[in-house]
Amino acid sequence: MGPRENGPHRARKRFGQHFLIDASAIETIIDLLDHPISGNDRTSLLEIGPGLGALTGPLVDRFNELTVVEIDRDLAERLRQRFGDQPNFQLIEQDALQLNLNQVSDRQVTIIGNLPYNISTPLLFHLFGQRQKIESMLFMLQKEVVQRMAADPGSKRYGRLSVMTQYYCEVEALLIIEPESFDPPPKVDSQMVRLRPKPAAKINQATEQRLATLVSAAFAQRRKTLRNTLSGHCTTEMIEAAGCDPKARAETLSLDQFIALANQSPD
Ligand code: SAM
Repeated sequence: MGPRENGPHRARKRFGQHFLIDASAIETIIDLLDHPISGNDRTSLLEIGPGLGALTGPLVDRFNELTVVEIDRDLAERLRQRFGDQPNFQLIEQDALQLNLNQVSDRQVTIIGNLPYNISTPLLFHLFGQRQKIESMLFMLQKEVVQRMAADPGSKRYGRLSVMTQYYCEVEALLIIEPESFDPPPKVDSQMVRLRPKPAAKINQATEQRLATLVSAAFAQRRKTLRNTLSGHCTTEMIEAAGCDPKARAETLSLDQFIALANQSPD
């Protein structure tokens, strides 16, 4: 059964719709999934943005428990018609940005998705907030976003997304997928990324909030020195006590240095 079974679906730009049409790319993506083959699944599988079901079809055949979350009402109806009678399939018709992972399963969740690029950053942060519930995530994103997530200090792509992603997760940038693999083709290259949440951080919630605030402030004006960008949050002495040079720029600081800064109490 193909995407045209109920007449053609017109891709909706506002939902970032680019459907995978390349069979070998689909196979390769599913092979990257870090999930035991059905029979002894430890986790429940969630697909974000199933669309016309390019990944959903092979996933529902292979895994014991598949939940999909789709915002587009027409696509949700097609998915219901195509997969609704499979006992291992659950559809949540909802905005993934509002999804609480406890709606998916009582168990830990493994997540896969060819994500809508227009909401990828807020969606990632929404999921990072629920990372205790997540085993691993395998996403297709805009290549540039994956490269920012995986960037090291000193590189021009290193920024807030790099530091915060690497604080929450181990990041593995995987294969690049060209625009021709999609219909309609996006204007940019895409890349797969695997994210494995790190065990709960040793820092407390307030310090974690402070880390997010400091990282945002430090990168808001990335060419300025820390003394400047952090002036509303830390004294020069606090920056030095964290082992950082007040004249340094945010883009040179490692994750551990940002954590050391967050650990400096403002009192
Ligand atoms: N997985 C399909 C594929 O690979 O062919 C479709 C991928 S397409 C890039 C993104 C999908 O996410 C679309 O089906 C779109 O309707 C859905 N989507 C967009 N925004 C969403 C949101 N906020 N919550 C849930 N699904 C969303």
